[in-house]
Amino acid sequence: MTTESILRAVLQSDELPTLPTVASQLITLTSQEDTTLADIADLISKDIGISAKILKVSNSAFYSFPQQIGSIHQAVSILGTNAVRSLVLSFSFLSIKAGSKAGKFDFEQFWQRSLARAVAAKLILEKVKNADTEEIFISSLLQNLGELIFARTFAEKYDEVLEKIEDNKQDHLEIEESIIGANHCQIGFEVAKSWGFPEVLLYPILYHHSPDEYEGKEVKIKQTVNAVHLSDILTDILYSDKPEEYHKQFRKDARKMLKIAPEDIEKILEDFHNQIEIAGKYFGLKIQNTRSVQEILQEANIRLSLLNLNYDQMNKQLIQTKLELENLTKELEEKNRILDNLANVDGLTEVFNHRYFQNCLDQEISRAERKDNPLSLILCDIDYFKNFNDNYGHQAGDFVLKEFCRTLTSQLRKYDILARYGGEEFAIILPETEESEALVVAEKLRVAIEDTVFDDGSESYSVTASFGVAGSRPAVEDGFGKDEFINRADHALYGAKEAGRNRSQIYSPKKKWYKF
Ligand code: GH3
Ligand code: MG
Ligand code: MG
Repeated sequence: MTTESILRAVLQSDELPTLPTVASQLITLTSQEDTTLADIADLISKDIGISAKILKVSNSAFYSFPQQIGSIHQAVSILGTNAVRSLVLSFSFLSIKAGSKAGKFDFEQFWQRSLARAVAAKLILEKVKNADTEEIFISSLLQNLGELIFARTFAEKYDEVLEKIEDNKQDHLEIEESIIGANHCQIGFEVAKSWGFPEVLLYPILYHHSPDEYEGKEVKIKQTVNAVHLSDILTDILYSDKPEEYHKQFRKDARKMLKIAPEDIEKILEDFHNQIEIAGKYFGLKIQNTRSVQEILQEANIRLSLLNLNYDQMNKQLIQTKLELENLTKELEEKNRILDNLANVDGLTEVFNHRYFQNCLDQEISRAERKDNPLSLILCDIDYFKNFNDNYGHQAGDFVLKEFCRTLTSQLRKYDILARYGGEEFAIILPETEESEALVVAEKLRVAIEDTVFDDGSESYSVTASFGVAGSRPAVEDGFGKDEFINRADHALYGAKEAGRNRSQIYSPKKKWYKF
């Protein structure tokens, strides 16, 4: 069969996809010179489904226009006729599915990869100075239109083509020509031409495998053809089994064909997978496998290095890698633990901070209530610490605060929680501890502080502190809460200060202080 007879068969086939009315009328309308923006907006507005989709995508991160676009008339005047036509066509084509004779051709995968190519071409052309990017998306989306047409109109023969492509390294176009008699570039081009497509969409379809064959003078078309060609290579990094080769080729050709700067090429490679996901969301396609180019190349690299090893070497290598991975995981866990802790720890004294204390007290009250356990709280405050700072300086004060905490910690049980309440005041939560026992603990702490000499190497310091103790059995105290608990301990601490400092005081509602 000649190319013409194949084309005739395709055009007469019942399986040839038909464009939605709004898309085909739009093509006609935009090719007429006297068409106004209002005519175009009126036409699109008639199709509510497409209008809604266009508004959604125009207001999305995909276009990132600073202003909100509220109507199709506004979209046409802000985005421009070509960009809007491009969107209408994109939505129209993305809805084309398998015909009645379903073969091996995977329509869903076809559109996923076409969308990736469209995104790739847009990213590429956006890096070319002064390039017109309005229609690059649709130009690239439709580059393989011919494949789609073959899969519907020559379903059986195209299955043969697909089989042969799978187990043959022969050129894709040659296989199509040998089995069908024409390739998808020619047929896609001719069909799109019969639909009245403009040149900027037609030539990328015809020349995306051989961009050098475009001999026209139009810079926009030349750049579009080149970007579409490059988009194919870029997309093959993600979907072929030779990612490293396409990666190399893409970097080389992007420089050569469109003079894209090396740092821009890196940026394209970096952004690609995220942009595919974003576009998938706006165009309603489920996108699988959005691994980054870097990840894919890394994996290919590992596979390549394993290929050269024998079984023993490979085993050793795998064990080594597994060990390294385990160590890394351990390190990461340790770092996370430290980070978690940092957020809860006071920078100077390294005991828990106020925020942690508040959360912890809430939790301990609930736990004590649930288990019907006693719970105690001690607040303590260093005596005359302002004088201490005045006499010895702030730095000595800091040193003492740190050592003060170390001394307290050494006297406490593992599950008691010491926190810096603020300044030179500290809180200690004592789970499962009766008030009377807590008073004994407070007194033990007080004595330990009184007896400790803090030596910073140049001088020795002593301080005393006062302690306020409150205990409760939250399960039997109605309406008992955190604030009440803190108030009671604070009250008791105030009593200890009043009574002369360097002492421990238990809370009494009648202010009759129980002195130890
Ligand atoms: P009282 O016995 O009534 O508690 O007297 P006080 O002087 O300890 O109490 P006051 O609340 O008047 O003063 C607290 C002092 O604690 C004042 C402040 O300079 C000191 N302080 C608070 N935080 C720090 C700190 O981080 N480092 C140092 N060096 N001093 C601190
Ligand atoms: Mg004080
Ligand atoms: Mg104070």
